[in-house]
Amino acid sequence: NVNRKPEIQEARLKLPVVAEEQVIMEAIRNNTVVIICGETGSGKTTQVPQFLYEAGWSHPDSDNPGMIGVTQPRRVATVSMAKRVADELNLTDKEVSHQIRYDATVSNKTRIKFMTDGVLLREMSQDLLLTKYSTIIIDEAHERNLNTDILIGVVSRVLKLRAELSREDRQKIKPLRVIIMSATLRVADFTENKTLFPIVPPVINVNARQFPVAIHFNKKTPLDHVGEAYKKITKIHERLPNGGILVFLTGQNEINQLCKELRKRYPALPPKATKKEIVKEEKANALESKTDSTPAGKADIEDEALELGENLVEEDFDLSSDDDDDIGEGFDDDELADVKDAPLHVLPLYSMLPTEAQLRVFEPPPEGTRLCVIATNVAETSVTIPGVRYVVDCGKSKERKYDVETGVQTFEIDWTSQASAGQRAGRAGRTGPGHCYRLFSSAVFDNEFEKFSTPEIHRMPIEGVVLSMKAMNIDNVVNFPFPTPPPRENLMKAEKLLGYLGAISTTNRHITEFGRTMSLFPITPRFAKMLIIGQQHGCLPYVIAIVSALSVGDPFIQDYHLDEDQPDTDDELESRELGNITSESVAEKERRKLVRKKYYSSQMKHAGLDPSSDILKLLNVVGAYEYAGATTKFCEDNFLRPKAMEEIRKLRRQLTNLVSSNFPEIDICLDPKMPPPSAVQLKVLRQVITAGFIDSVAIRQDVLDTGGGKGVRYKNAKNVVYRLLWTDEEAFIHPGSILYSQEPPAMLVYSELYKGGKNWLKCNTAVEAK
Ligand code: ADP
Ligand code: MG
Repeated sequence: NVNRKPEIQEARLKLPVVAEEQVIMEAIRNNTVVIICGETGSGKTTQVPQFLYEAGWSHPDSDNPGMIGVTQPRRVATVSMAKRVADELNLTDKEVSHQIRYDATVSNKTRIKFMTDGVLLREMSQDLLLTKYSTIIIDEAHERNLNTDILIGVVSRVLKLRAELSREDRQKIKPLRVIIMSATLRVADFTENKTLFPIVPPVINVNARQFPVAIHFNKKTPLDHVGEAYKKITKIHERLPNGGILVFLTGQNEINQLCKELRKRYPALPPKATKKEIVKEEKANALESKTDSTPAGKADIEDEALELGENLVEEDFDLSSDDDDDIGEGFDDDELADVKDAPLHVLPLYSMLPTEAQLRVFEPPPEGTRLCVIATNVAETSVTIPGVRYVVDCGKSKERKYDVETGVQTFEIDWTSQASAGQRAGRAGRTGPGHCYRLFSSAVFDNEFEKFSTPEIHRMPIEGVVLSMKAMNIDNVVNFPFPTPPPRENLMKAEKLLGYLGAISTTNRHITEFGRTMSLFPITPRFAKMLIIGQQHGCLPYVIAIVSALSVGDPFIQDYHLDEDQPDTDDELESRELGNITSESVAEKERRKLVRKKYYSSQMKHAGLDPSSDILKLLNVVGAYEYAGATTKFCEDNFLRPKAMEEIRKLRRQLTNLVSSNFPEIDICLDPKMPPPSAVQLKVLRQVITAGFIDSVAIRQDVLDTGGGKGVRYKNAKNVVYRLLWTDEEAFIHPGSILYSQEPPAMLVYSELYKGGKNWLKCNTAVEAK
């Protein structure tokens, strides 16, 4: 019994999905899994839950009691879609509710529940059978987020379980229905994967009419995309006919900055606006700066990282216009105008924005103004903003990236895929023909954009994926029905490593308490373990500095090492050079010798603390850099790469903030004048390092041969054979290591294995037998 307002009813009828209601409901009745593909804005998210609701699903007395659950990868969409569906059905947020990590409106009356996929995964660790739900709608499956992929895998198993149980006793438990929704037709990974769904699920394609969108590429690709967006918006606004502008930028800071500039330049309201309207506008804008309701100390790790990782560059808004004054392209002359101060209704849209401020993008702009929404990629497929005719696309997005070597998670701004750029352009063609202005050249688009983005699971270090799954109590990762499974042996290797690190039990493979804490950090389990142990011994600030440095990688300028690509002994180098003695090569050799000498003396200076660990040397460098005010001069004087040092610095800050916001009991801040560790602390730090690299141990061959003891005496590590403990391979200390020019230790842990001709051990720490 649904009671919609007439204007809502009218708007619904225009949505392509509504025309397919019969087909969709028929498919859902006859199949346990149904896939729906439809262009963004066709009405999938808002209408499909209503079809089910209207057909009586989720009603306690129906044959399909239990909530209709809808998952979203993003918080913005979760909250705004729940609100929209409640409005359309004329119900309250107690009946159509949302739940995101720290905010929920769910009640015992809830019939439709929107939630992030992470929320549902966590719920499943308590209630695997999803007994509270009659249907699960997994939305935005085309994004291929890790959570979405895992959710599809788990749910495929729950379907089977529920089906079996309900065959036994249908009164007690009903079968579950699953609907997977995608904005693209690329769903083969779900339909053609027999491990996932043995019976091929039907795919319903919703044909949405899409108006043509003219694409305009920039001739050049400017570095400052925020400034470029500003210029483009002013041109569109001053010259082109009515219609909303949607701008894609990469993150909160950029968006706020551009909003500020545009609001400075254009009035928000027409001159004839009443006092009341002005007050209303001011109040509404004030909502934006209201801090999010997230309780302090419980910040969502991902969002936290997202915002902290952001680079705030002071942009200079260069108003002088460049060559590309072809803004009128595709328009008739009489359509073009030249109005300098027409009102522009500028609104931001990003995940950390308070809900009320987010919802403003759906309201029609005040009479006589043009709408201009500055958004992250949330506006790409998750939310559809009405009335957009112009899209301005910077072509970039902030993506979670992983360094496959170190597994550190960072948020990096990079080009999106061609597929995403296509989606963004499509937003201009919803209500009529539109225009998309790309702030990059077509050459960049052709040569530097990937066709499609890779599923997140293939971009993540595998031990991180496995640990996340264990934290969701998914223990059998090797047989897990991933939509696109990672190689089996990688999964097994990851389990083994997690076992060594103590994150999972080596007997039953369940996650340990320790592993659970580890899974909270946005860094590989190995580094997380180091942080946790460091905390236990009061060395946390040092360990954070170490982990940051290791994550970013060697900050020392490589040229000053011996030949990096072919690390060879001095002797060999010399004999090789003897072959072609020219005056030039002698001079060159002299120069190299000199520089190398300087390099080593700087290395030794930093190793002063403890000359038996490259890692502790790094710690010293990081501390000294901060102490010296983090200057480029310091980098120059010490053979350091300024960019690497800056990254280390950022990561240090991010990790420190993560610790203090997630573990309020720990009192920690970033001390720019961190004193060097005491002798006791040094000892602990070596233990922390050993524990973190417990799977990367090398033992001197001669010590192994004599069954322990001191072994032979060596002057330095030249040609001294080591044996890797877990793989039994042969390896040598790299000449760039601080351990190279002294008596080589019987045992060491390495943090990098460089394979090139020989195996070279880099970034080493001696393990003392004491
Ligand atoms: P899809 O999921 O297929 O991308 P949606 O169901 O999200 O499509 O959107 C359908 C329509 O509903 C769009 O035209 C969109 O603008 C509109 N809509 C969504 N939320 C709101 C809202 N809060 N206010 C007004 N219109 C909305
Ligand atoms: Mg949608």
